[in-house]
Amino acid sequence: MLEGKIALVTGGTRGIGLATARALAEAGATVVLTGRDEAKAKEAAAAAGAASGLALDVTDAKAVSTLVRGVAKEHGKLDIVVANAGIMEDALLGMIREELVDATLSTNVAGTLHTVQAAARAMMRKKSGAIVVLASIVGEHGSAGQTVYAASKAAVANIARSAAKELGRSGIRVNAVAPGVIDTDLTSGLTEDAKAENIGKTPLGRLGTPEDVANAIRFLVSDDAAFITGQVLGIDGGLVL
Ligand code: NAD
Repeated sequence: MLEGKIALVTGGTRGIGLATARALAEAGATVVLTGRDEAKAKEAAAAAGAASGLALDVTDAKAVSTLVRGVAKEHGKLDIVVANAGIMEDALLGMIREELVDATLSTNVAGTLHTVQAAARAMMRKKSGAIVVLASIVGEHGSAGQTVYAASKAAVANIARSAAKELGRSGIRVNAVAPGVIDTDLTSGLTEDAKAENIGKTPLGRLGTPEDVANAIRFLVSDDAAFITGQVLGIDGGLVL
């Protein structure tokens, strides 16, 4: 399905990023996995069947640009980029600290933007490519105690919608996935009661797995999705927040 494609996944050392790197590699892509920590990125790359694991902090615009350019140069092109890196910390309105705002916006919004910009520059040469960013059901509907995270993910969804409009004529597709509650380290802080409540509101009756999201991303970056761009695809078991 993805034979001959060169793919880059940010924040790939665990969770959805790791599952996505594995899914793309299993589909035949040559995958470059990145993570903040080089040793962890190399370890995850080996576990996922990725070609290499590199250190990258997505908040550093220059580092993102340099790394993406380097990958495209080394492999002669860049076909697929998954801007997955993200953080989530809950805080009620009255408890929101400036550090939380800065960290969330610089990672989720600016980090995604840097990645999409660098991907677009690299893909422009061949006038072809597929980018997926990680939004969230929370960004589409809002969530008490998650105002900062929800705002950041609404921004991510609109990075996809806007970049798709700008890049379509250059043969570059940009989509977002909006996962519901997925069982990863990010959601490991949820109490059993909170998990049960979410499952109760989910028609498919379970939490999502990283593979549920990875499989949808694999579809969106494949040629099967050749006429799909600017979409925000819910992967949430039908969860109604
Ligand atoms: P996770 O915490 O397991 O993994 C996130 C990854 O991003 C980690 O590898 C982390 O090291 C990396 N990361 C964080 N900041 C980074 C930075 N500045 N530079 C580079 N890498 C960085 O989380 P996950 O559940 O796998 O989530 C992956 C993405 O999916 C995130 O963007 C998250 O917001 C989004 N998402 C997750 C869920 C869920 O329920 N798990 C739901 C909706 C959206």
